[in-house]
Amino acid sequence: MNAVQEFKLSGIALPKDAGGMLTEICEHFIEHADVSRTEEEALLTSKLGSATIRIRERKLVIELSCPSEQALQMSRTSIAEHLFYFAGDDPLELTWAEPETRTGLDNIHHVAVVSIEDVTPNMRRVKFACADVSPFIGGDMHIRLLVPPKGRKPVWPGLRDDGRVAWPDGEDELLVRVYTIRAVDIERRELWIDFLQHPAPGVVTPGADFARDAQPGEKVALLGPGGGALPAARSMLLAGDESALPAIARIAAEAPEGTRIQAIIEIENEQEEQPLPSAGSLDIRWLHRRSYPAGARDILVEETKRAIASMADDTFVWFACEKEDVRSVRSFLKSRGHDKKNRYVAWYWERQVD
Ligand SMILES: Cc1cc2nc3c(=O)[nH]c(=O)nc-3n(C[C@H](O)[C@H](O)[C@H](O)COP(=O)(O)OP(=O)(O)OC[C@H]3O[C@@H](n4cnc5c(N)ncnc54)[C@H](O)[C@@H]3O)c2cc1C
Repeated sequence: MNAVQEFKLSGIALPKDAGGMLTEICEHFIEHADVSRTEEEALLTSKLGSATIRIRERKLVIELSCPSEQALQMSRTSIAEHLFYFAGDDPLELTWAEPETRTGLDNIHHVAVVSIEDVTPNMRRVKFACADVSPFIGGDMHIRLLVPPKGRKPVWPGLRDDGRVAWPDGEDELLVRVYTIRAVDIERRELWIDFLQHPAPGVVTPGADFARDAQPGEKVALLGPGGGALPAARSMLLAGDESALPAIARIAAEAPEGTRIQAIIEIENEQEEQPLPSAGSLDIRWLHRRSYPAGARDILVEETKRAIASMADDTFVWFACEKEDVRSVRSFLKSRGHDKKNRYVAWYWERQVD
């Protein structure tokens, strides 16, 4: 029998508060990995491999163990990015036993706009030519869209010695937004992204505006894919608003025959409905925001909770929309003891509070 080859790397982080940092890491990764925690130690396990993080004299000692060199480097970048994100403005030192040797990011894809079309009045589809679509087939659906400033030669991100992404800044700063790969056209080597044109009077919406103004030939980059794995379950509840509609449509499109899907999708009005082909059996309820009683806000959340309460316990629950709504559904699932392995609950955008 072949031994499983493991690639290992250790590192040491010195944050302001090692215990607090470990807690933040565990709370964040619980939605993306298996997390087990004791007072002094955490073990995070995902398909990239495992990370053991121990508190030792105010430091965090990190041990990464992965099935491939690429997974190891991606884990290093992920841990480094999150540590610095959680540190915020507090000082943080991070060193690894072996320095970063990659010259650039492995998962950056340079793509060009092929065509643009309106799927519905508020949903604009941009198709991108991509030399190698194979990383996007099956698996994770999410990417980061990187748009360089108009009229400048693009400067793409590199890597810092500590494994973090080195983003270009100043005049070369990129527009970065997270989107879902709505479809992969293997024959044409194209990737589709559906952009909600979310009407926010007086508010700048650079991601939506990129799709509004996109021109064939325009060059951008996609970082990923990472996160948002296509669920493999016989019975699923898929719920969300328009920002989640591309993901819901993709999950339905890729579900095999025999899958039972219940979908609850909140949209502006009936003009925003779109066909969602699936080999599975699909029962969709469209909620039209325009027809809600004045002041009503929680209808998607309440309808989703009602559906959860009436479904079998082993149904996979997939829910994405605004941050506070997601928190509410996540707490509801926790209060019901819904198995974490049977859910994906993530916020896709955040309502600005004036
Ligand atoms: C994992 C993931 C996958 C996503 N996939 C998609 C996708 O496939 N298609 C898609 O359209 N979006 C998707 N989103 C959501 C998208 O990233 C956000 O809506 C993003 O804020 C859009 O950027 P923007 O520059 O247009 O607006 P921003 O500059 O980010 O925000 C401007 C203003 O618009 C408001 N706003 C942002 N999004 C919405 C919204 N959906 N509805 C109402 N108001 C909003 C903000 O509160 C803010 O006030 C995804 C998000 C995540 C995290």
